[in-house]
Amino acid sequence: MKIDLKRLIGMLEEVNSVTDEGEGMTRPAFSNFEDQAHEWFIKKCEALGLRTHQDAFGNSFATIGPKEGKGILIGSHLDTVNNGGKFDGALGVITALEVAATLLDNNVSLKKPVTVVAFRAEEVGLVGSSVFTGLLERTERFEDWLKNINRTAATVDESIGYEAYTDYLELHIEQGKNLETKNKNIGIVNSIASLNRMNVTVHGEAGHAGTISMEERNDALMNTAKILTEFERIVKSYGAPNVGTVGTLQVYPSSRGKSSSPLI
Ligand SMILES: [Zn+2]
Repeated sequence: MKIDLKRLIGMLEEVNSVTDEGEGMTRPAFSNFEDQAHEWFIKKCEALGLRTHQDAFGNSFATIGPKEGKGILIGSHLDTVNNGGKFDGALGVITALEVAATLLDNNVSLKKPVTVVAFRAEEVGLVGSSVFTGLLERTERFEDWLKNINRTAATVDESIGYEAYTDYLELHIEQGKNLETKNKNIGIVNSIASLNRMNVTVHGEAGHAGTISMEERNDALMNTAKILTEFERIVKSYGAPNVGTVGTLQVYPSSRGKSSSPLI
């Protein structure tokens, strides 16, 4: 049994035609573009003969095989970061769909249901799959956040659905360079990164850039630069696969940064 590569690439192109303007793919979580991609998914699955449904939160599912019993779940997500690549997320959903379509084409009699899933809002903290597994963290701002995305606590509770499945498979593009460096086509993931995010504030002392002597300064940005260098040294000392990133710096009061004068 072989998959239809042409159909797979065609479906990938179709879903990737749903994107905001600009370079690459832009289907942010909870945007109209993500909604449209899910609508496309449901229509496509129905056309291919799969049984579809969406949970109350908006995760999309399409099933083949027996109507009873615990099933196998295969899929990924359809949202992207801004100007993201064409494979991240979409490839996992489309390959899962191609697997289901191939099984249907070949009239394979399945012992258990096979369900293709497109999870919501992966790029903003694995939100859709966290809802599905009942692991969504209920922070202080939980209710406000739900209101913003047009959902309620009830839609989150209703959408816990993992118990209907025994296994989960996901094909995902590698976002590092391991396979490329080793000249391999595919690898099997046996562990995942445990992510930790934090905001750090470094306090200094504001002063006149033209008059405070170098000896008298306590410059927050310069002190931060020393911290960053040390941060990298510490992370590297732990060796692979440990990684650490500093992604954003905001400097206050930064009078020059705020100036509207054309002279400085
Ligand atoms: Zn992804």
